[in-house]
Amino acid sequence: MSTATIQHYINGQMSTGESGQSQEVYNPATGQVTGRVALASGRDVDAAVAAAAAAFPAWADTPPIRRARVMFKFLELLNAHQNELAEAITKEHGKVFTDAQGEVARGIDIVEFACGIPQLLKGDYTEQVSTGIDNWTMRQPLGVVAGITPFNFPAMVPMWMFPVAIAAGNTFILKPSPLDPSASLLIADLLKRAGLPDGVFNVVQGDKESVEALIDHPEVRALSFVGSTPIANLIYERGARHGKRVQALGGAKNHMVVMPDADLDKAVDALIGAAYGSAGERCMAISVAVLVGDVADEVVPRLAERARALKVKNGMELDAEMGPIVTRQAHQRITGYIDKGVSEGADLVVDGRDFDAGTTGEGCAEGFWMGGTLFDHVTPEMTIYKEEIFGPVLVCVRVPDIATAIQLINDHEFGNGVSCFTESGSVAREFGRRIQVGMVGINVPIPVPMAWHGFGGWKRSLFGDTHAYGEEGVRFYTKQKSIMQRWSDSIRGGAEFAMPTHK
Ligand code: NAD
Repeated sequence: MSTATIQHYINGQMSTGESGQSQEVYNPATGQVTGRVALASGRDVDAAVAAAAAAFPAWADTPPIRRARVMFKFLELLNAHQNELAEAITKEHGKVFTDAQGEVARGIDIVEFACGIPQLLKGDYTEQVSTGIDNWTMRQPLGVVAGITPFNFPAMVPMWMFPVAIAAGNTFILKPSPLDPSASLLIADLLKRAGLPDGVFNVVQGDKESVEALIDHPEVRALSFVGSTPIANLIYERGARHGKRVQALGGAKNHMVVMPDADLDKAVDALIGAAYGSAGERCMAISVAVLVGDVADEVVPRLAERARALKVKNGMELDAEMGPIVTRQAHQRITGYIDKGVSEGADLVVDGRDFDAGTTGEGCAEGFWMGGTLFDHVTPEMTIYKEEIFGPVLVCVRVPDIATAIQLINDHEFGNGVSCFTESGSVAREFGRRIQVGMVGINVPIPVPMAWHGFGGWKRSLFGDTHAYGEEGVRFYTKQKSIMQRWSDSIRGGAEFAMPTHK
């Protein structure tokens, strides 16, 4: 078994760094160690920031169309190497291969968006704001910016950030999750082959220490973070203390409302895929089914049957529907939540703790396995309703009507994604208008916005003002400058002491 060292990537070179620290990387399907990832110290971070700062002036001066051409070349290479990237994801994260392919494809969407940077950076111009005076605005890059990303999308979430940041003329430091770090280096290699100058994209592997060094470093102008809410909150506060731009996307508890008029076959399909896909380890996973009126009596038994029949296997098996849990610790945390649900009085309909790992594939007996879990009669004061479990656990809450469903969701501390299954246009419209959640699906269970629309939740699912990618992403990674200009033939003589107004 190979135990490769997964390194940093600084100034176009792999680097082991100088901290001497590393941690094990696992294949969660087999439970075996497959490598060790370096953990950056503050000095390793300094080296990455120095490389990114040195590369910034020339990259920022490169015409946007030439930066876009590097993105086009990167896009071509990504398309050619999608499966390699997807395989690396499955082997460190555990998600099934087709899901990893989907993750890469949604990341590619953002690269395509970033290829349009010349148009996106185009400014506004007003002729003759006063006699002989013109005024225009332009957007300029910030400098060195950093992205800190979670384990659950090791390729897509970095691609929410760096394609837009780099295309806009910034230089970038990625700090991936140490649980599945390999995708970051495959990406770095493709960017280099696409002709990106050294130092424009860098990777520092690590955890808390490297993140704190990035936040505190005076040359790092902005931080994009995606991860759990407590860490998002910390990063937002610490970044703000340094006067930095921060967008910090946090955790979630996504509800799906099923109305009595919904197509129940399609609603059940949607709930099963959205709750158990990627073992529930998606920030847009549906973890609460809100069953309106008497639909619960029909929906819960059908969900139970489907949850018991999930094909839980090594993600590299082509018929796998759900892979393992990412780590042993996460497995224990999820098990603890199921125990708590039982002790707090919820009705445990399907118990994923009972899962038999014998059917998961060859060499997988020691993997971090769990089946799908289903709870019914869950109430808002229960821990399994309030907290993000981030595992294959779906809880059902029964409510009498749509108004109660909307109130329930609006009272929750998270507001990332939400969905409503209904055939009624007026219910759909009211739901879309009244719900206090950033991303809404009508008969769409996982409404991840397209590359040009931007991604972001509300309430404690996002700290900061702008969403990731789309035009908000371009705004986040650039600052606006206004220029007002006139030439001497329109300047009247004499000093003016009154506030200038248009003349
Ligand atoms: P996490 O918060 O544990 O880690 C995220 C990143 O922060 C990692 O790079 C990690 O190394 C770093 N980190 C961890 N502890 C830190 C600390 N004390 N100080 C500084 N940095 C620290 O999250 P995770 O377990 O990797 O990912 C799962 C979480 O991410 C879930 O809560 C999920 O909902 C959330 N998530 C949110 C979105 C979104 O768009 N809102 C998308 C994906 C994942």
